[in-house]
Order: sequence, then C-alpha cells, then structure tokens
Amino acid sequence: MQVPLLRLQCGVNSYDWGKIGHESAAAKYAAITAGSDFSIEAEKPYAELWMGTHPSLPSKDVETQRTLLDMVQDNQALISKEVSERYGGKLPFLFKVLSIQKALSIQAHPNKKLAEKLHARDPRNYPDDNHKPEMTIAITPFEGLCGFRPLAEIVHFLNAVAPLRELVGTQAASQFESVVQGFEDSQDSEQMAKNKDALRSLFTSLMNSSPESIETATQKLVSTAQDSPDTFATSTSTSDANPSNPAELAALITRLNGQFPNDIGLFVFFFLNFVKLAPGEAMFLKADDIHAYISGDIIECMASSDNVVRAGFTPKFKDVDTLTEMLTYSYAPIEEQKLEPTDYPYAVLNASAYSSGSSSVLYDPPIEEFSVVKTDLKRAGAKATFDALVGPSILICTSGTGKITVGHKTEEVKEGYVFFVGANAECIIESTGSGEENVFTTYKAFCDLTGKEDMVNGN
Ligand SMILES: [Zn+2]
Repeated sequence: MQVPLLRLQCGVNSYDWGKIGHESAAAKYAAITAGSDFSIEAEKPYAELWMGTHPSLPSKDVETQRTLLDMVQDNQALISKEVSERYGGKLPFLFKVLSIQKALSIQAHPNKKLAEKLHARDPRNYPDDNHKPEMTIAITPFEGLCGFRPLAEIVHFLNAVAPLRELVGTQAASQFESVVQGFEDSQDSEQMAKNKDALRSLFTSLMNSSPESIETATQKLVSTAQDSPDTFATSTSTSDANPSNPAELAALITRLNGQFPNDIGLFVFFFLNFVKLAPGEAMFLKADDIHAYISGDIIECMASSDNVVRAGFTPKFKDVDTLTEMLTYSYAPIEEQKLEPTDYPYAVLNASAYSSGSSSVLYDPPIEEFSVVKTDLKRAGAKATFDALVGPSILICTSGTGKITVGHKTEEVKEGYVFFVGANAECIIESTGSGEENVFTTYKAFCDLTGKEDMVNGN
C-alpha cells in the first residue's frame, strides 16, 4: 500500500487586509511549494494560506498534482472510514495561516442550525451549511477583539467616553445601567439573563446607528484619542481583568480609523475584550462568539466551513440583523477566552529532545473536529514520535529544518512545508538544524474521534 505521507501545495488568498508581499508569512509559505505560476508580488496583500480539502481553495499533492479532496474521496483509508462517514468524505477541519496587516471584519460564525438556515436563504453570502468554531494560535505578537467585556467595563466606558454614550443614545445607556449596575458580576441565572437582554438591546441600538451619527461621533472620538488619551483608561475596579494602557488604546483607535474611517467598529471596540496574544498563546471561539482580528500572524484551525456573518471593519456584505440576533451576549474577562495548552501525551520525545528542553503541547478545544499539537525541537537529532491516530493530520513547519518520516518514506522539512499524514499512521519528526536560534517548530492539526464526543457547539 502507498505510504500515507503527502507533501502539499497550498494556495494563498489575497484579501485586502493581508500583509504586503514578502512581509506575509502566508505568502512565504505558499511560495516555497508553489507551482511555476505563483510568485510573490511586492505590493500585493496576502492574507490566508489554506491547508485542507475545502473546495474554495483545495490543497494539492505535490507529486501527482491531484487535489487532496480528490485523493481522500478516492481512498477513504487516508482519513479513516469513521471520519469519512461522519464528515462526508472530507477533512473535518480547515487549517490556515493568517497574516494580518489591517483589521478583519467584526464577525461571528453561525452555529449548525443557523448555518443551515442562512445557507438555504442566501447561498451566495453563506456558502456552507456547517458551523465554524475556530481556534487561533499566535505565531507573532497578535492583537484582536474577542467576546464581550465584563459588564462593569462597558458601564465604565459609557461614562468615560462621551462620544460612545452619545452614539448609543443617552436613554439606551441609562436603561442598560439601570439593569446591570451593581449586578455586573451576579451569578444568579435570572439576573444574568436580564444582563444579557440589556446588553443585546444596547448593542443592537449601537449597531443600528445612522452613518451620519457615526461620522459625527467618530470625529469626536478621534480628537479625544489625540488630545486626552487618558480617557481610554480602563476602570480601576476592572483593570486586572483587561489590563491595557490608555495611550495604547488611544493609538489603536487612531490606527483603526485610518484603516476604516467612520466605521461602527471603532465603537464596538468598547464593548469587546481587547486581546493580545504572545507567540504560542491561543484562544478558542465558539459558534456565535463575536470577534475581530487586528494584527499579527496566526495559525488558525476551524471546522471546514466558510460562513461569516459580518458587521463592521469590512467592505464586504454586512448582515447587522443576523449578527445582533445570533450572538449569545455572554460576557467574560479575556482569561476565559484564552485556551491554555497542555502536555501532549501521545508524542514520545527522544533523549536529545528531552535534554534540550524540547516540547510537544496540545491545544484541545471542546469540539471533536480538530485539535492542534505544537512541537518545538531544539537541537539537531531531537526527535518526536507521534502515535498513530484514528483520523488524519496536517502538519506545517513555521521555523527551523528537519525531516518527517511515515513508514519507509522520509521527506525533508523546511519553513513553510506542509504535509498530510494519513489516518492510522505513526509519524516521526526530527530536527536537523543546529544552534539556539534554529528551533524546529511544527503545528499539527488532527481529528481523533476517540473519546472526544464532548460537542458543545452543535446545536
Ligand atoms: Zn472568525
């Protein structure tokens, strides 16, 4: 039988928000395995490298030039009978590298039920009928917005930032305060339901502001950012939950307004957690979680779907009504959005890997479609042996040099190389680089149905 190790050629999208030319990791990674028809254009933005079987940009086997989709449909053993039956002969996940220069739209991804409804109603804007929980792992310092802030912070900003209060309307703001103030952290389920309702109506009234009133408020907001940045200090009572320095937030407001002048997103900012991730840090977005990415290079893994409901920071189709309706309006500090990696027990490190402080860590969101394991091998000869999994994997190298072995097949690995590893195959990676600076880093996304039936997002 053929050894289930394929080197993949992956395509890159050129969305407007991508990093430019050679600055873009997504472009660099695409170029290293590209066919002769691709070369990086110096002035062009490159946003997303796609690794998987999604039909909008399917990866190809380098050797045969067949699409991975075609190959797994031809030979279901590549992804296993179980995965193939459950996910209709396709990979359950889509793995990506995003290189973000400019904010991405404020968005949320529908749960399964809503996705089916939206797709039936409007297949042009909602191309899939699947949900799309997604996980982000920073590979360079990352900034983004994620989930609603703790309510005390929203109350604080409504009072500290005058143009925000004007835009949502004094009456809507007072109504919100009369419900939540004093009960921001209540754990009582009745009160929490009231808080969410109040947040929903305040946020909906913000999102329905007229373009004229947004423009007026933006002018005031931007001059506040320039003249008195201290206005953007978080409240002292909540500073532990969302530490950020007022000058930094003021500068960010100015930067975002430069990217999207007079956009409602500038005000949504005060409702959402501002998240910074250091390389290796991760966050997980459940279906219906609101988010926006602002800058950085990231590894992203998601259920295979391309459904996005957008409402700001975008020239694309906006669907404010669907967005304001679908959100769960849960609010929580950033720490609850972050996903802590744990030791990965199914990779065995050799002595050289152990003694050099090499590691294999697991990012395991509470869904069954995917998990990601990050491996850093810190010395030539350091080796990690991955147990065979029930399902398939895709591996990408983001730094260093090494090799990958499945069965009797061994291939060279460099930064940007991407491999498909079939189901039920043991896989070994080994660093061949030397020197402190030359850590061999790989990310391996995989689906392993065993013991991971803890779906939280499906319905
Ligand atoms: Zn998203």
